[in-house]
Amino acid sequence: MSLLSSLFGGGSNAAASPAKPSYSDVRIHPDVDNGLGTARPGFAGGTLECHCATDKVEVTIGGQVAHNHVCGCSKCWKPEGADFSQVAVVSRDKVEVTAHGDKLHVVDPTAAIQRHACRECGVHMYGRIESEDHPFHGLDFVHVELSSDSGWAPPEFAAFVSSIIETGGVPPERMDKVRGRLGYLGLEPYDCLSPPLMDAIATHVAKSKRPEPA
Ligand SMILES: [Zn+2]
Ligand SMILES: [Zn+2]
Repeated sequence: MSLLSSLFGGGSNAAASPAKPSYSDVRIHPDVDNGLGTARPGFAGGTLECHCATDKVEVTIGGQVAHNHVCGCSKCWKPEGADFSQVAVVSRDKVEVTAHGDKLHVVDPTAAIQRHACRECGVHMYGRIESEDHPFHGLDFVHVELSSDSGWAPPEFAAFVSSIIETGGVPPERMDKVRGRLGYLGLEPYDCLSPPLMDAIATHVAKSKRPEPA
């Protein structure tokens, strides 16, 4: 068990222990508040739809997502009332706008991740990195809760947890409960990204600093 798990009661075996408090009054995100879903073996993707009543923007994802997680940062799109977003990555060649793409606009053209959102309902349909120097170039960011298909990989961890104090106005004294709830759900809380993703960023930076071969 990692240091964070032992401090915050995380880990996948946490739910099995009846002695652990569940912090069930703490809301994280509608897709995880009642427990995590399960990835269906061989799941081949599905369709995301924006929240408009008619003429919905539709994005078709041609494969399973990876690194799904809940995120407390200020940039990810969150459903109404939630302190966390749910966001995953998928190879950009698996992402296709299949209806009403004319309603999409880029939320912040200066941001590293170009978040393509519906102009009418505000939902972010996909985030894309255009800079080839970015560690996550080639991966698009998507919110699988926009899909009615079941079988998507569930969230694996919680990123930028402390940011909800800043972005959601959550009082700092409530953070023990928030981390307790995340741990109970099996979503290890991190205040940046998960170790594998932080390692991927550091590896990219290390490679780009390495001197050219003579
Ligand atoms: Zn819309
Ligand atoms: Zn985020």
